[in-house]
Amino acid sequence: MAEPVYRRVVIKLSGEYLAGPHGSGIDQPTIDRIAADLIAAQKLGVEIAVVVGGGNMVRGVDVSAKGMSRPAADTLGMLATVMNCLALEAAIQRKGSPAQALSAFVMPEICELFTRAAAHKYLAEGKIVLLGGGTGNPFFTTDTTAVLRAAEIDAQAVLKATNVDGVYSADPKKDPTAKRFDRLSHSQAIEGGYKVMDATAFALARETSLPIIVFSIAEPGSIGEMLRGAGRGTIVAG
Ligand code: UDP
Repeated sequence: MAEPVYRRVVIKLSGEYLAGPHGSGIDQPTIDRIAADLIAAQKLGVEIAVVVGGGNMVRGVDVSAKGMSRPAADTLGMLATVMNCLALEAAIQRKGSPAQALSAFVMPEICELFTRAAAHKYLAEGKIVLLGGGTGNPFFTTDTTAVLRAAEIDAQAVLKATNVDGVYSADPKKDPTAKRFDRLSHSQAIEGGYKVMDATAFALARETSLPIIVFSIAEPGSIGEMLRGAGRGTIVAG
């Protein structure tokens, strides 16, 4: 079996995916399947931190469109990401593997605060680290958080798990002429305005020279495949 290409990565998991077929909330079979995939991927010898989104519960932009201030709505969104983290932490632990949730907010009764030192420590101990609370600031996304945390903890790549197998020129589910890219530079990804990740995330990745690998998590085992450099995805780098 091929050796993993990376030693330490950040995986970005969208909250929406955790809803499974329901559209919102947490689908336990989906969480359990992702937990199993993460454990199998870690057994390849890769240190794994996961940045979890919150779109299955709250998206700040949507809530603020109904009247709440954007910072308040984003705070709800960030708290939703903590809930998803805790659900994933519990699922991984229930399968007998060590996991540690770290939050961007001080909430000592619930989970530990994210610090670079804590993340380094738990990753070195062989725990899957779940990062909740986004950046801790409104107006950002968990895509940007994934790149920020990857740069902070010296990860070698960000793996962006999505519903499609890479970056396309348009939504392949709506436009049959959409073109799929094997590889893009950060600047091409920004200039193309591709919807798969926000421009702030791509810009920070360009600034910190971090590759982003966009791939589909729909197939069980795809995280491990990507870590071995064998899976199908788009590499955004250089
Ligand atoms: N959020 C935020 N700051 C951050 C990260 C997230 O305010 O640094 C809020 C924002 O309201 C966002 C919500 O948390 O809509 C959920 O995150 P995101 O939309 O990135 O989740 P995903 O779409 O990946 O499920």
